[in-house]
Amino acid sequence: MTEIVRIFDTTLRDGEQSPGCSMNLAEKLTLARQLERLGVDVLEAGFPIASDGDFEAVQAIAREVRGLAVCGLARTGAADVERAGQALEGAARPRIHIFIATSDIHLEHKLRMSRERVLEEVDRAVRQALHHCDDVEFSAEDATRSDWAYLVQVFDVALRAGARTLNVPDTVGYTTPDEIAALFHHLREHVPGVAEAVLSTHCHDDLGLAVANSLAAVRAGARQVECTVNGIGERAGNTAMEEVVMAIRTRPDVFAGLETKVRGEEIYSSSRLLSSIIGVAVQPNKAIVGANAFAHEAGIHQDGVLKAAITYEIMTPRSIGRPSNELVLGKHSGRHAFRERLAELGFALEDEEFERAFKRFKDLADKKKSIFNEDLEAIVADAVVQTEERFQFQQLTVLSGTFPMPTATVELTVDGVVRKTTTTGVGPVDAIFKAVTELTDSKSELVRYQVNAITAGLDAQGEVAVTLAEAGRRVIGHGAHYDVLVASAKAYIHALNKLAWHKRRHQAAEPKGV
Ligand code: MN
Repeated sequence: MTEIVRIFDTTLRDGEQSPGCSMNLAEKLTLARQLERLGVDVLEAGFPIASDGDFEAVQAIAREVRGLAVCGLARTGAADVERAGQALEGAARPRIHIFIATSDIHLEHKLRMSRERVLEEVDRAVRQALHHCDDVEFSAEDATRSDWAYLVQVFDVALRAGARTLNVPDTVGYTTPDEIAALFHHLREHVPGVAEAVLSTHCHDDLGLAVANSLAAVRAGARQVECTVNGIGERAGNTAMEEVVMAIRTRPDVFAGLETKVRGEEIYSSSRLLSSIIGVAVQPNKAIVGANAFAHEAGIHQDGVLKAAITYEIMTPRSIGRPSNELVLGKHSGRHAFRERLAELGFALEDEEFERAFKRFKDLADKKKSIFNEDLEAIVADAVVQTEERFQFQQLTVLSGTFPMPTATVELTVDGVVRKTTTTGVGPVDAIFKAVTELTDSKSELVRYQVNAITAGLDAQGEVAVTLAEAGRRVIGHGAHYDVLVASAKAYIHALNKLAWHKRRHQAAEPKGV
């Protein structure tokens, strides 16, 4: 018999209240829809009394996202509960989440309330919330620093008042796995009627223990985990949803009979969506969703993974919705991994071409730590029979400043024929790119334009990288020059040459009629 560990996602509440993670209404709705696809059980959409923005977000999500419980946070005050209730009107499955601190530290220094007074608050607020909805959760803030005997009393009151989820927050990220497990065992033993409620864990990562603590709580009887996508949240963050879900899934021997309803294949896209909304990337070595989480670089590991993934992989990238394991090619990579990657990219080289490409790859790997697909395409382009570049840069003159309009005159050869044009733009780079586009009849889309100084100082060479996309293919062109405008023109032309090379190669590979 399997038991469900409920996933309570608080990315939009606890996560959103951390610095640099705020989202507007449209962004919150987009993420909420993705969390529904992901299959979380409860979505905490905000803290309605905190601001009008929070109220509107909870209201909009409650109305639009129907496939899960939508939750609003409230302190024990009557106005808080009322506001949460209003925001959740129209929700398919509303939940009000009441919280009050229970540690003596918080009672003395923050609330200035007696323990008895807090018990009264809990009783009153939970009963009030039940007028708005059947599903009420109660959290004892700073539970892990509270007196256990008092905590038992608080939960007893909340349960008698009608709360059906009892949450044990490690608000300050202070507990340890053994300690929180003991606390859950204690509560299960001492709170009367606790079996009727769902015990919940809510951990913070101040000591890097949020996931470990949450999993220890699950082992000790917690059946709801409060967490966030990518582990965003106050200070060091909350429990990372993807890590908890994949730990439970990957170790059924340890978490016997336990499952979550999360759809694994939506994990990676949820992580990417959140990162793109808040503009905060996860660190490359982040478990499950980091850029390197499935990247094997050491040659012996790469060889093993290619022969049988189980040698070094405890879960597949596909299980979290990542396209394939991304073997990062680096200087430790061998011929096997290199050939495999080229095959994935659609390149089958003759022996001689392959040896030439492999040598170039090793040379580049000595200078550059990671070799990406774009680099490999350039290597292959060099290694196979070289044709003339279609477009060659000749001359550039730019007039720029505040008056008149920035103007660029570009001269280049197209298939050996000299062509020249003059165009204006909103800035000098825009003017150059327009001129080059006109001369080359390019249909490509400019995806990214980046300028870097290769060395320090005012006389540094500028290096420009231009990413272009056309017909589903992306290429990066590079150009370096003491004048960044010349470097820009060269980078753009370099990228166009790469696209032209791919088009020729693609055509050549197509079967010919008789
Ligand atoms: Mn929290």
